Amino acid sequence: MVLAQLPRLHLSILKKQPLYLPTHFNLLPKPKPITFLFRPKSTITTTEPIPISHLPENDPHESPMDFSLDELFVPPETVFSFDEQHLKTRILKGSNIVLSNYARDAQVVEADFVKSSVRTEDCPNDGLPEFALVGRSNVGKSSLLNSLVRRKRLALTSKKPGKTQCINHFRVNNNWYLVDLPGYGYAAAPQELRTDWDKFTKDYFLKRSTLVSVFLLIDASIPAKKIDLEYASWLGQNQIPMTLIFTKCDKRKKKKNGGKRPEENVKDFQELIRGFFQTAPPWIMTSSVTNQGRDEILLHMAQLRNYWLKY
Ligand code: GDP
Repeated sequence: MVLAQLPRLHLSILKKQPLYLPTHFNLLPKPKPITFLFRPKSTITTTEPIPISHLPENDPHESPMDFSLDELFVPPETVFSFDEQHLKTRILKGSNIVLSNYARDAQVVEADFVKSSVRTEDCPNDGLPEFALVGRSNVGKSSLLNSLVRRKRLALTSKKPGKTQCINHFRVNNNWYLVDLPGYGYAAAPQELRTDWDKFTKDYFLKRSTLVSVFLLIDASIPAKKIDLEYASWLGQNQIPMTLIFTKCDKRKKKKNGGKRPEENVKDFQELIRGFFQTAPPWIMTSSVTNQGRDEILLHMAQLRNYWLKY
């Protein structure tokens, strides 16, 4: 059963009914299993429970229960009762993501730059799972990368001339990769070069078998841009697992100038991409200034990764 085909009911109505929940987004009209369901099993084991400090602390003044069920991202094999209070404590703050039993080993202990590749074939071939960060130039990708690994200048390696057009791999805890991809929509780049970046990042998305999810960065301090919508649409059409990372959520625009709050821009973006996906993709609000969303991203990555490693 596909949830998107159900009427949009609120959790309070649905909570007593056993439901089969979507494990990830699928596209209309021909849903296909997500790529990370069928990867070979790794020898890495992750059995420790999540430290309690990493459990979500939802502010009682916010209302995560405003989500309708079909707006939530429920990780695969998540078992939870439909008790309202219980579910409320399991939605990661500033996101639509439900915490699952797979959220283990989320902390970053060490991170190192490994290599820059110009072709997918040249990327590391040790089979470790990876997450690729991509977004419009100036969206805050380097800042986020540095905030995730708690370093000031790690991502700068990929900003050096000659590295900006590369696929840059950073190994985390010797267990998985964060991948920095070239920013798109850079006005000053010649058209020829832009097309080329496009070609090789898309080739990477389509061919990289260890890619668990693309993290598409969207600036939440401004209204949705056409190029971002096109990117999300392309990922959706090609059934590449995607997480939306909304950046700069600390930036408040003055209402009188017609600016919208980040929460409003996030909501608008959801509405605009709704048609591209059969079920809601996961999304998280972040700020590299306040570190908002950092733990939530790491928990989300951990649960996707641990599930991926199991299969
Ligand atoms: P990149 O080109 O996508 O790698 O973007 P950068 O990380 O270099 O950031 C571009 C600009 O946005 C810089 O001036 C950053 O200081 C600023 N910036 C990045 N992240 C945030 C954020 O979360 N909040 C705010 N207010 N500014 C940010």
